[in-house]
Amino acid sequence: MQQETLIVVAHPDDETLGCAHELLRRPDQCRILHTTDGGPFEERFWGQAGAASREEYAVRRRAELLAAMRVFGVEERQLEMLPVPDREAARQLPLLIAEVSARLRAFQPAVVYTHPFEGGHPDHDATALAVQRAIAMLQAEGLAGPERREFTGYHARNGEFYSDGFLYEANAVVQVPLAKPEAAQKKAALDCYASQQRVIARFSLSPQRWRIAPLYDFTMRPHAGPLYYEIRKMGYRFEDFAAVAAAAL
Ligand SMILES: [Zn+2]
Repeated sequence: MQQETLIVVAHPDDETLGCAHELLRRPDQCRILHTTDGGPFEERFWGQAGAASREEYAVRRRAELLAAMRVFGVEERQLEMLPVPDREAARQLPLLIAEVSARLRAFQPAVVYTHPFEGGHPDHDATALAVQRAIAMLQAEGLAGPERREFTGYHARNGEFYSDGFLYEANAVVQVPLAKPEAAQKKAALDCYASQQRVIARFSLSPQRWRIAPLYDFTMRPHAGPLYYEIRKMGYRFEDFAAVAAAAL
């Protein structure tokens, strides 16, 4: 029997962008934990989308997620979502760590996929921290814990959005090219995310890229110069993130 894969990501659509290779090829072996519900507090996000509230926008994003997962044959019972607003994950690190820990103990996955720590989005970095910390806690008890993998996301390169590779070289990168029908299926899943098309358009469909995650120091700025979320003014400076990270660790 194949062992389970746990995908821990911040937002509805991150699972498809980062882990389409797993969702396409082993849909029944995947469990997915979203660390936010995708609904930010700031009205400009859900207001632009024509939603009446943050909650209504989150409900819409969950419906998009369910539709996208149906494309892969991933069932609703394989999905869980924490009641954390979009952009608030870093302010909820103790909850994230506890919830990821609970899933590791319950499911005992062989592999966990998550975001790299690259200053792209504070929720992505918070999720990466929670996964690294939860696995370290298992290992401190003498348990092996799953293999921690990370997929390419996005970060600032020369001040611009960059999504075609990792921030810096660490462990060997595995490139998984998608066959044409697979890329078409991934596209069909991404098309379900009507509210996210502007961001999704900035990612290439293939290949998928992942590597064994390096051990991060989440209190150190991931790169010199402004981070992508600082450039885009997502409500955090790195110093804010480092303070909550240090408190949680
Ligand atoms: Zn995301």
